[in-house]
Amino acid sequence: FLISSLISVLGRYLNPLISIKSSSSIPNHGTLSVKLAPKLHFTSDAIKMASTDFGKIITSNIPSAVLFPSHIDDIKNLITLSYNSTTPFPIAARGHGHSVRGQATARDGVVVDMKSLSNSHVGTRVSWTSSLGYYADVGGEQLWIDVLCATLEHGLAPVSWTDYLYLTVGGTLSNAGMSGQAFYYGPQISNVLELGVITGKGEFFTCSKHTNSELFYAVLGGLGQFGIITRARIVLDKAPKRVKWVRMLYHDFSAFTRDQEHLISITGLDYVEGHLLMNQSSANNWRSSFFSPNDVSNIASLITQHKIIYCLEVVKYYDDFTTHTIDKELKVLLEGLSFNPGFVFEKDVTFMDFLNRVRSGELQLQSQGLWDVPHPWLNLFVPKSRIFDFHQGVIVNMIHARNITRGLVLLYPTNRKRWDDRMSAVTPDEDIFYSVGLLCSGDNDNWKAMDEQNKDILEFCEKAGIRFKQYLPHYTTREEWIDHFGEKWSIFQERKTMFDPKMILSPGQRIFHHV
Ligand code: FAD
Repeated sequence: FLISSLISVLGRYLNPLISIKSSSSIPNHGTLSVKLAPKLHFTSDAIKMASTDFGKIITSNIPSAVLFPSHIDDIKNLITLSYNSTTPFPIAARGHGHSVRGQATARDGVVVDMKSLSNSHVGTRVSWTSSLGYYADVGGEQLWIDVLCATLEHGLAPVSWTDYLYLTVGGTLSNAGMSGQAFYYGPQISNVLELGVITGKGEFFTCSKHTNSELFYAVLGGLGQFGIITRARIVLDKAPKRVKWVRMLYHDFSAFTRDQEHLISITGLDYVEGHLLMNQSSANNWRSSFFSPNDVSNIASLITQHKIIYCLEVVKYYDDFTTHTIDKELKVLLEGLSFNPGFVFEKDVTFMDFLNRVRSGELQLQSQGLWDVPHPWLNLFVPKSRIFDFHQGVIVNMIHARNITRGLVLLYPTNRKRWDDRMSAVTPDEDIFYSVGLLCSGDNDNWKAMDEQNKDILEFCEKAGIRFKQYLPHYTTREEWIDHFGEKWSIFQERKTMFDPKMILSPGQRIFHHV
């Protein structure tokens, strides 16, 4: 009875993608179906949740069902079911759904709600070996905040982070995982020792630089195209207790970038970022409230005077052993910088408070109903050689002049040598490139104007010959994807044929599926 009712439900909801018309079309369908039946949900709540994401822009990629796995075998069975079907159906892992363009959706297919694994799965296990040092085995479904809390119990922590920690391990490793630590430690994908992956053929592999390395490199930055990450072995280091957190303000873009580039060329700092202040209320923003009310009014005057102010942000970690020397060390590191005199601000906070700095802003926006709104974000990697052209053409002539963007603009350099070219992630072809985040929040009326501006920005860069790369990319045509991957396109395609030949996984990226 179970089998026949599941077949009828799947047939109803997944047709025409699964042709469950004759039992012979799905080998082993009986066993797999019985196991999957209780975990496949068709309720409107589940479907609604899986049809959209943080961006709130794409809402029409409606799946036929959502899988709430309690074991990784459920995912394996689902992919096997699709792979062995004469008409395979699309499947997307959904981490925390914090994409902005439907990347974790699967129209007419099945979305796998990865977080439902968290009750029964591996959690975070900390180990040490003489060859690897300290590392943590974590579930692909885990949020980075949970990884942080678990590793801190051992006095340890991962070394590379995102600014915001309520993202899953599988979700960020499918992109890169970028923040101000990346200039020194590399992005999160450069700090992975091993992965557990279920491919698009429904096969589970453990992979690393030495074992099944093709799959390992494919999956890191692979936009979910080659397999579903069920486990990751992450590099750990001793966690500091506290951090010195410094912000310096500039009115001169050239001094700002010169100092940023200097700071990522030396050792000593643990984090270097930067963002722009363009209106009176932008000194403190949702990503971190930093300045005192008195500072805010001084900063507002500076913005009135110069229109655009550049905020260089650095952090140095310290603990009990370095309490007495930290101020001196920091002073030496920041000596000779050209920020506007008097506009240097310092905070001393716990390591946890620093890493989790975006959370309080999120909760505040949530309470004001301003979190679940459209987010037409655009993230770009811009080569260092063209950052002045980008600044003039995009920041000054578009974003500042038009004043239609509400949100934060991040801008900081990072070192390409910390990236591994064998991975799927792509960067500009220069040793130093800038990570630029245009993080707009809109409402139902105005987000389209911001999105139009994004198109203008991309068009400007194309015309000016700025060889940027989109980070968290979104394209609508195959030609754009070929251009995005450049020299890596042929290997990306070969890996797709190798690991997901029936093009089942992560259709919402629209690389091989143009729905
Ligand atoms: P989802 O949106 O659920 O999925 C993203 C893609 O990965 C989809 O294609 C999905 O199918 C695939 N996927 C998900 N889980 C798996 C898995 N286990 N195995 C294989 N594929 C999988 N990024 C940064 O680098 N640095 C930042 O500082 C940063 N800050 C952010 C702050 C906010 C508020 C938001 C909304 C996003 C931010 N991002 C940042 C972007 C974020 O890293 C990506 O959007 C990431 O994909 C989100 O993770 P997620 O778990 O929500 O993934």
